[in-house]
Amino acid sequence: MIQTIGDKNRSTHGASPMMIPENTMIKGVGVSVGIGIGQVVLLERLSTDICPCRILTTAEVPAEIARFEEAVDSAEKRLNAIKGQIDGNHPLGDHSYILDTHILLLRDKMLYEGTKRAIEQGKQNAEWAISEVMTKITSAFDSIDDEYLKERARDVHFVGERVLRILLGVSSERKMHQLPPNSILVAHDLSPADAAQLKKEHVLAIATDVGGRTSHTAIMSRSLKIPAVTGLEKISPMVQTGDTIIVDGSTGLVILNPDAEMIFRYRQRSDVLRNYHQSLLAFGRLPAVTRDGGRKIQILANIELVDEIEIAVAHGCEGIGLFRTEYLFLGREDLPSEEEQFEAYRAVVDRNKPYPVTIRTLDIGGDKIASSLKMPSETNPAMGLRAIRLCLNLKSVFKTQLRAILRAAHYGNCRMLIPMISCITEIHSTKKILEEVKSELASEGVEHCDSIKLGILVEVPSAVAIADLLAREVDFLSIGTNDLIQYALAIDRLNEHVNYLYDTLHPAVLRLIRQVVNAGQAFGVSVAMCGEMAGDPVNVPILVGLGLDELSMNALSIPLVKKLIRSISYDDCLDLTHQAFQMQSAQEIHELIEKWIFDRFPGDFFLSQQ
Ligand code: PEP
Ligand code: MG
Repeated sequence: MIQTIGDKNRSTHGASPMMIPENTMIKGVGVSVGIGIGQVVLLERLSTDICPCRILTTAEVPAEIARFEEAVDSAEKRLNAIKGQIDGNHPLGDHSYILDTHILLLRDKMLYEGTKRAIEQGKQNAEWAISEVMTKITSAFDSIDDEYLKERARDVHFVGERVLRILLGVSSERKMHQLPPNSILVAHDLSPADAAQLKKEHVLAIATDVGGRTSHTAIMSRSLKIPAVTGLEKISPMVQTGDTIIVDGSTGLVILNPDAEMIFRYRQRSDVLRNYHQSLLAFGRLPAVTRDGGRKIQILANIELVDEIEIAVAHGCEGIGLFRTEYLFLGREDLPSEEEQFEAYRAVVDRNKPYPVTIRTLDIGGDKIASSLKMPSETNPAMGLRAIRLCLNLKSVFKTQLRAILRAAHYGNCRMLIPMISCITEIHSTKKILEEVKSELASEGVEHCDSIKLGILVEVPSAVAIADLLAREVDFLSIGTNDLIQYALAIDRLNEHVNYLYDTLHPAVLRLIRQVVNAGQAFGVSVAMCGEMAGDPVNVPILVGLGLDELSMNALSIPLVKKLIRSISYDDCLDLTHQAFQMQSAQEIHELIEKWIFDRFPGDFFLSQQ
């Protein structure tokens, strides 16, 4: 029997564990594909409740500060030693910079100075002082609705906890290198130092309470190819070391206390999926040409971090269709310099040669807030000073980014994509600034690309309505369905109460896409799609039928989408699209396509989501 539970806790602090019903399922975010079935190794969280609290006398303060500084020094030495273990051949070699960040964070102003101040002025002992500061930092960041910033607050927490363990005299290491075989690591969170030390052969999967797609657990588990589910909220208090669990990194499901039948079922699924993904990888290397040769679609990857390029290339991307540059701006007090941006953009351009890299200019605002930019608080941020509107408002920030992009474009095939265009004036203003930047670079004698291809994200309904006018102004159009659907169907993409209305196959959405493709074709401008819609196999036959030239998606979807395109004929896609446009509701269109795919390929293409 299957049970699904919400926030029922197995054990609260000190309470005796209660029995978890068989086959209890909890849902998180699947961040690294694959299935692990094994025994839990629970990584205990350091409880700050156990911190001794003591008021110091004035005479004791200097010695307490010295004790704190020594603890920070020894934490630094230990992190350096762990970093030393990750040489160039280690699968995490490319991520050792995360440990550098943690070493720097040991002396983070809020954490380091804040703790010293609490010892000096508050007369608190070091353990108490640092745990108070950590709590303050966490709750300050918790109130901000930005996943990336929350991740960075957790970095501060990791290093603070390391110092606290040293002060308390408890081992600063969680026994990562001594994990028994067939372990499933369960933790509130996993630090990069933990991940760097774990014995990969012994870890079948990872499950954590917190974390999202850009969390370090996610990045590192993907690099280590360990199935992982994050954001499970309460898994760590629900399980104990030795419990049997199943972690499905493809669907984000974790099953506690599975019975024999469930284990058998998942073992089979694991074999099928492993073989399936393995067989799909070969498709990544092939072009996405329809079976009858009638249509070739270019398949590209969406990335947020420079770090993601390797995965994208390994899955067969033919370039980057969307580089969301705002991640360079988030989670920090200052703005990234021109040089820092240039290095990041150039790294992506270099790594993708000869394929194109599409660098989207800053899309800050809405749900992404950069603390370095003083932005007004808005009642309706999704419709506020966002993306290109903000850039035209903050001209010097925009110009710095344009300089960095033009300089990087000198080294390879690079295009520029402007988000949230809603009228022609925004294109004219952007072009004017772009020309200014080019002539400044030229007069300074700085190497740059003078003829970069310029495109716009079509993600506002007004841009669809004037797609014919916009197409005349640019080199390419890219449809951002994530926003286009939110604005066209009036569904806040962050609001879980209206999520059920969000449908990529709504007849209105298909008509909007068709209008953009027609405009592109009429003016000889290529049309791409880079919203999540492009990577879901259910949409692919219609997107082919509609005439999209490029599809850009999360890297892991690439082999599957390529396989699907190579298996279908263009004529069939045209016919299916024609039929879909006769239908009145999203549900009818879903049924039509699912049957269409199932009749042709029973058991294929929706496998990993089943
Ligand atoms: C989109 O809106 O579809 C898009 C690709 O941009 P983002 O998801 O970053 O808003
Ligand atoms: Mg968008």
